[in-house]
Amino acid sequence: WDGRNLKNEKKKEGAEDRGSSAEDSDYENDADKYRPYKVTNYSRKYPENSQRRDFVVFLTHQCADKPFSDGDKVNLSQAIRKYAISGVLHLRPMNKYKVAITFDLSNNANTFLGHNKFLDELGLNASIPAADTEVTGVVKSVPVGLSNKNIFAMIGSSRNVIQVRRFMRRVRADGGEVAYIPTQTVAVTFASTQLPEYVYLDSWRHEVTQYVPPVKQCLKCQQFGHIAKFCKNNEVCSICSENHNYKACGADKQNPVCANCKGKHIAISASCPIKKNKIEENKIKSRTAAYADLFNEKSFPQLAARTAETYLENMLKSQSFLNMITQVIIKLVANKNESPINTETIRAAFQGTIRGNAQSKA
Ligand SMILES: [Zn+2]
Ligand SMILES: [Zn+2]
Ligand SMILES: [Zn+2]
Repeated sequence: WDGRNLKNEKKKEGAEDRGSSAEDSDYENDADKYRPYKVTNYSRKYPENSQRRDFVVFLTHQCADKPFSDGDKVNLSQAIRKYAISGVLHLRPMNKYKVAITFDLSNNANTFLGHNKFLDELGLNASIPAADTEVTGVVKSVPVGLSNKNIFAMIGSSRNVIQVRRFMRRVRADGGEVAYIPTQTVAVTFASTQLPEYVYLDSWRHEVTQYVPPVKQCLKCQQFGHIAKFCKNNEVCSICSENHNYKACGADKQNPVCANCKGKHIAISASCPIKKNKIEENKIKSRTAAYADLFNEKSFPQLAARTAETYLENMLKSQSFLNMITQVIIKLVANKNESPINTETIRAAFQGTIRGNAQSKA
């Protein structure tokens, strides 16, 4: 549509200046070139027209790695009363370092995010979850000569782009030193909860696919789903699966035992069947999140439906869902002379329509 093309044209002009200067080797060194590029002065806020029912703000200490003590929790609720912060529904701990305040309305949450006096008095940082306001997609076949900043300058999209990060491949040279080689794949983060289908780079159309985050594996206990910073388990060796650090391991390195599946590989190996399963799970989770977006065509939705009820509510807001029901009814009415409308024919019509829609999408 016009808006997108206009923006694409506008962006292209800027890209030409920067494109030529990227040729100069002293313009930026490789480290700068491939450092993730973030929009300056972007601050995450809940959109005013949000369809959500609650608005979460996370609090952490300004000095990193300071846990939230019981005293901090008491101070927090007292300060909320003292400053008469509006719209607070409840407080809850997220982990040792993080507390969540749930607000009733987007503007109450947004006002609180900017309440510097309150935050500085308690030495806290306030932020909102990225998943509630942003979505990350993957764009392939992006020429490696382009820096993240170049890509940002030339990208054309129907959604606002807030971050560009090229994937780097970690390689170990013969001497053992680690180097990072740029790949042609780039992660693009949009200020939106829905991915655009395409972005444009210098008139080239690139498909945008869902970003699948890497599997979290703890380097202390080797288990999945958390990182060492939050680990409460005993240390487990990634080579032999006994209780010691891998650096102190005396076992035969040619005969490793995986701490998770007991197989003949180190615990962080990509060939571990349990790790492979976790990677697949992550893919399905990301796809489900993208699919949930389908049910929310009214801008900023609740990404993960928390109950069956909200899920159904979201489905009923969806144009594609209503289209499907309409198709089924038309089919049933059109064929009512050959096959009467009953439970069986209704079910068959639904199944046929779902199958037909899935095929036409594939
Ligand atoms: Zn752990
Ligand atoms: Zn060991
Ligand atoms: Zn394994």
